[in-house]
Amino acid sequence: MKSLLHKISNAIKTARLNKAMPLRLEFVVTDYCNLNCRGCTHYSPLAAKEFEPLDRLERNAARLGRISDGGSKLGSVYLIGGETLLYPHIVEAMAVMRRHFPHTAIFIFTNGLSLPRMSDEFWDAARLYDIEIAITRYPIKFDYDEVERLCAGKGVKYRVFGDRGNKGEFFRFGLDPHKQQNKYISHFKCYNRGCVSIVGDRIYPCSISACIGHLNKVAGNTFSHVEGDSLDIDKVNDIKQIRRLRDKPVPFCGYCKQPTVVDYAPSRRDPSEWIDK
Ligand code: SF4
Ligand code: SF4
Repeated sequence: MKSLLHKISNAIKTARLNKAMPLRLEFVVTDYCNLNCRGCTHYSPLAAKEFEPLDRLERNAARLGRISDGGSKLGSVYLIGGETLLYPHIVEAMAVMRRHFPHTAIFIFTNGLSLPRMSDEFWDAARLYDIEIAITRYPIKFDYDEVERLCAGKGVKYRVFGDRGNKGEFFRFGLDPHKQQNKYISHFKCYNRGCVSIVGDRIYPCSISACIGHLNKVAGNTFSHVEGDSLDIDKVNDIKQIRRLRDKPVPFCGYCKQPTVVDYAPSRRDPSEWIDK
């Protein structure tokens, strides 16, 4: 009885903490990537070389900037991929983000591989618009210490956001093609929670749902979106609508199993890397 009460009290605490988490918007500019990781949560190994049109990025950023009071109602804004630095309009995108989100932290997510080849314009823009580089380390042969030194030398803010370099472990987010999972439990235990993703003209609570089109292309449209899975940006008038999307289960959560830890490995681009039987 005592342990049941303990579990309930922990669950309530977790729910409160999750709700209080600052809102973060992740603008997906491409899912194309120069790495090929098994189980990628953007399905990048399956993604074509496609990029977000700059005018659509600007339009959506303008609207979301307006309703968030220039980002003052947000915790942060990300430009994310795939590999974000492969986005051909990255410098313009940095200006767009700062123009519409003057009052929040802006990050560029990267696996770091392209950093040594970035142009002076890129580094100038990062300093000018006060944009932080968030580097994820992967267990590959690459000198991450050197790219950290490079960022420091350029006078640009950076941090190691995720370090998968040491243990070489990776989460595998298995999907149930029959949508038989309890969406409340899946959402409550979700590790992709908070990754509110903007793809096209819609907002999704997570990349697992937002980027599913890449998996659907090789898996016969197994996973579908229904009413309530996402928001049309043009119909969002209040930041509370996005919070609700993040904080409550959506129908798509019925596909999500609990993640398991697997060894880091290159993808074979096989749907079974993401789909359970
Ligand atoms: S580097 Fe990141 S985005 Fe690219 S394939 Fe690996 S996990 Fe996916
Ligand atoms: S669909 Fe729901 S449970 Fe699945 S990753 Fe997204 S928020 Fe989490």
